[in-house]
Amino acid sequence: MRKSFLLLALALLPVACARNKEPELNIIPLPLGIEYVEGRCDLGDGVIVGTSDSLLLPAVAYLERSLKIDDISTDGTVPVTLSIGKSRPGQGYRLSVRPSGIEISGGSYEGVVSAISTLRQILWDNKRNIPAMVIEDSPRFAWRGVMLDVSRHFFTVGEVTSLIDEMALYKLNRLHLHLTDDQGWRLEIKSYPELTGRGAWRAMNRWDSTCVRIAGETKDPRYALPEDRISNGLYGGFYTQEEMRGIIRYAMERGVEIVPEIDMPGHSLAVLQSYPQLSCDGKGGAWGKNFSTPLCLGNDEVLSFCKSVLGEVFALFPSVYVHIGGDEVERAAWEYCPKCAERVRRNGLGGAENLQAWFTREMEKYCRENSKVVVGWDEIASDGLSEESVVMWWRNWSPSSLKTALEEGHPVVMSPSEYYYLADDQDNNTLAKVYEYEPGSEVSLPYSGKVIGIQGNLWSEKAATVERVGERMFPRLLAIAESAWTQPEKKDFDGFVSRLPLHLRKLDEAGWSYRFPDVGGVYDRNVITGETTVTLEVPENAVLHYTLDGTVPELSSPVYEAPLVIKDSCELRLRCYNSRGVPGELRKVVFLRRDYLPAIQSEPVLSDGLLARWYDFAGSSCEDIDKAPLNDSFVCRNICIPDNVSGNIGLVFDGYIHLPSDGVYAFYTYSDDGSGLWIDGELVVDNDGLHSREEKTGSIALRKGLHKFSLRYFDSNGGILEAGMTDDEGRHIPFSEEMLKH
Ligand SMILES: [Zn+2]
Repeated sequence: MRKSFLLLALALLPVACARNKEPELNIIPLPLGIEYVEGRCDLGDGVIVGTSDSLLLPAVAYLERSLKIDDISTDGTVPVTLSIGKSRPGQGYRLSVRPSGIEISGGSYEGVVSAISTLRQILWDNKRNIPAMVIEDSPRFAWRGVMLDVSRHFFTVGEVTSLIDEMALYKLNRLHLHLTDDQGWRLEIKSYPELTGRGAWRAMNRWDSTCVRIAGETKDPRYALPEDRISNGLYGGFYTQEEMRGIIRYAMERGVEIVPEIDMPGHSLAVLQSYPQLSCDGKGGAWGKNFSTPLCLGNDEVLSFCKSVLGEVFALFPSVYVHIGGDEVERAAWEYCPKCAERVRRNGLGGAENLQAWFTREMEKYCRENSKVVVGWDEIASDGLSEESVVMWWRNWSPSSLKTALEEGHPVVMSPSEYYYLADDQDNNTLAKVYEYEPGSEVSLPYSGKVIGIQGNLWSEKAATVERVGERMFPRLLAIAESAWTQPEKKDFDGFVSRLPLHLRKLDEAGWSYRFPDVGGVYDRNVITGETTVTLEVPENAVLHYTLDGTVPELSSPVYEAPLVIKDSCELRLRCYNSRGVPGELRKVVFLRRDYLPAIQSEPVLSDGLLARWYDFAGSSCEDIDKAPLNDSFVCRNICIPDNVSGNIGLVFDGYIHLPSDGVYAFYTYSDDGSGLWIDGELVVDNDGLHSREEKTGSIALRKGLHKFSLRYFDSNGGILEAGMTDDEGRHIPFSEEMLKH
């Protein structure tokens, strides 16, 4: 019966398409405008790519290579012509597909590459036979960036160029390489050979040992340190200038500009350990209270060092932009350093706290003399730089630094850590959160033109392999790509999600890992009252391996193929593997066999809402909240963080929940930081601990009537709290007002 219905549906499909002038295309990021015209363009016999513009020859070569990957012959007859049309917006393009051939006209080389990306994605959908259409497209933002931290962990030339391939496909046009930090210097500098001779290598640090420990405990090769990055017991690696030239060329062909970052004057331990004389104490620096000790800004040799390094960077990187970091400087060493004191005195700086701004202005001057534009983290916003210097806003908890940057006239790239930091933990809600973030929402109208772009940043402390980078980066980065390119009024999360599966398959084919959605059909904690059949929903393209004996699922563990019968309390461990046998996150799901908890027999007289108590709490566990001083107490009709509650937040909501019938009820909390939900004194949702936004779920069997309810939540820097019930498919159901009493 089902089969015949399916056949019928398939038979109807071509008719439906013919009637609809707009066949479904799965392009990410969504183009500005697509106009369908009569006919189709048949690429079955192959294409011939050409241009009359010698500047576009690398784009011709790139398109030919791309078409071969997509299995289209380039020895055929259908003409694909590339040109630059000066009248178009700089990064925009026009892609015209007619039965007679394909014409690409970009406002620039980059625009031509963007058209190539669109064409490739159309071909994925309509292999060899494309509906005729005209696409006129241009980006919302000129700066559509990705930052890769190659210092905390090093990534090879091949891994970087593979990322560039993906960037080009999604019209991301700036690859910001975080080349230097405390943990390693990654670029050959000929005038200071020890920077890579010593500074590119380190003894295993705590992040390395954490990765190695997780790799062992969870049998997860994504955490193992790659052997090609270990030499004589030291971890490291670097790019020679020749290798970097290759990366730059590769990126240029694909319309991607490499923006180098040399972080100064902080995050410089790799420098100081290679050249100790550049530190205030002459001994090579160390870790301070929060950050590492910086370069000695009283030492003239430091200035000549920085200029020499930047000079080689200027010569190597064609980009007009040079990122000089400027973030997270531990300034204590400057307070006690006679050279720094002398610098403060000679330049009338008033105090060591003003040394960094002076230094940044000096570096900016040097960059400008060499026709380069400084980019820095938002800490530089108040350093008195010239207007053209670009500020990268990352501290979303510090809106004042964004405001300062805009008021000082700086162009701003938005990379708020809450939304655009790609190394952060993720759950099923993360993709929507990243997609729906509107970068313009933080900027008042007169300054909106100052936002030149957005950027996703991948810090690599906890990502030692490219597999782990992929799982952190994708598909979040595609959401950022759409926010960067597509006008906000055209964006639509459901539409984005419906276009996504094709792209995930292509990422997989290209050898990239990505995060699978959570396995559906189970909560984190599941109460059963008797033998239960559990049907799991396996994400597309994934093979789900599981265990019921407490061991870690491996490729040799059973594959989930049919519903599981659970008879008693147990722990189910789940892990999805991709087509290359690379595992995703390990998920532990608990089943508890329990009876229904009885309702309270003699119901007290109750009022609506829960009694909430707000404590001045700065700890890290829900159970300690009410040991902190009490700030206030009030009645809440629902679970939320009330507007007047801020600072160190510890909230305890107490009362009762009224349930309409006997049943197994499921609850969730979604919080940053920790939360927990108790019913009749039993912990149903355990979402405790310091963490970013995370959802946890749990169920409990309850008789009809009134049950004790308690929810705890804490946060130290402006978090989020949501809670409610969920249905079998994990959809959220808010508590109704009649449910919660006190
Ligand atoms: Zn000093």
